[in-house]
Amino acid sequence: MPTARTAPTSSPLPAAPLAVRPVTAPTPTRLWTPSRVLVTRSAAERPYGQRVLAQLEAAGVSDIELLRGDRLPALRGDGDRAAFMAAKQTLALVVPPPSLRRLQPIAPSADWRFDLAQGCPAHCQYCYLAGSLSGPPITRVYADLDEALAGLDGCVGHGTVTSGSAARAGEGTTFEASCYTDPLALEHLTGGLATAIRHFGTHDWAGPVQLRATTKFDDVAGLLDLPHGGRTRLRFSLNAASVARRFEGATSPVAGRIAALGAVAAAGYPVGLTIAPIMPGEGWREEYGQLLDDVAAALPTGTDLTVECITHRFTPGSKATLTDWYPRTKLEMDEDVRTTKRGKFGAVKHVYPRDTMTELRSWFTDAIADRLPAARLLYWT
Ligand code: SF4
Repeated sequence: MPTARTAPTSSPLPAAPLAVRPVTAPTPTRLWTPSRVLVTRSAAERPYGQRVLAQLEAAGVSDIELLRGDRLPALRGDGDRAAFMAAKQTLALVVPPPSLRRLQPIAPSADWRFDLAQGCPAHCQYCYLAGSLSGPPITRVYADLDEALAGLDGCVGHGTVTSGSAARAGEGTTFEASCYTDPLALEHLTGGLATAIRHFGTHDWAGPVQLRATTKFDDVAGLLDLPHGGRTRLRFSLNAASVARRFEGATSPVAGRIAALGAVAAAGYPVGLTIAPIMPGEGWREEYGQLLDDVAAALPTGTDLTVECITHRFTPGSKATLTDWYPRTKLEMDEDVRTTKRGKFGAVKHVYPRDTMTELRSWFTDAIADRLPAARLLYWT
């Protein structure tokens, strides 16, 4: 990782635009309690690992196993389904291997991927993690957070995704914390997102930076009073009511997420909508229109708001994993009604046909401009 600093030598804290205090936190609608926690030896030695351990105990998690080494035991169940559910109910506190800490660009969201954890306790039947992570779907929380945050300085000013784009250079060097997890789903157990927000907000950076996180949860009480300095953009992953109801198991209801979005915006955070995965089901215009209206009603005037739109897609690998995890799913994953696209290295993904994409894109572009005129649409995919 290059260490030369090419960006300006100081990064003044941007003014938090809306800090109307006190902001009342909405009551969280869903707080996960893992039924089993595994802690590796290296994780238990790290200061942040010890803080998480204390927080897990304070949260009343009773089955905490301190391992003698760093290898996680194989998770067994009576069958595949039992093994899957056992893994989903397990949190492991680990130190990731150095290869996972090497920062990677993560287009189109951010210059760099910065992981707080890997895995998620929710049950979205289209989950983005299916097919990208191997092994049982345990949620692994990374115990080396303090060192990982301290190691970010060398990347500032060296990104290519937002830093390298004229339209988005104003965001500074961006770090995406939600590639392989939903950080807010774990926050009441780990405090990791708050730790990162505080670091981004108060550290003396070599240039403008932004931490980015997206979530389908709503427990924002611990984030409202942090010294975020306007350097964290909290995005809420939202969808049409029928999509959320049918396919987003064990997440916070959309209304809760919108209330949380309004609260963090009122606390001065730049915020965002991740509208994903967009599905053109029956009545989609009305449902997505209602969603945008509800968001507009929840946001204070002057909110710094971005929108990212991601249509539903699947790969052969994600389809195989998801049908294994959710065998009775009604999620449409039919190659015959999709268009096949190939990525740079030949990877196949199945997206909606061109006409459908054009219609969706045109409707969303107009509807966002109409209902959320101050929002910036970052990308459509
Ligand atoms: S909240 Fe995100 S990471 Fe978690 S199950 Fe749903 S799609 Fe997957």
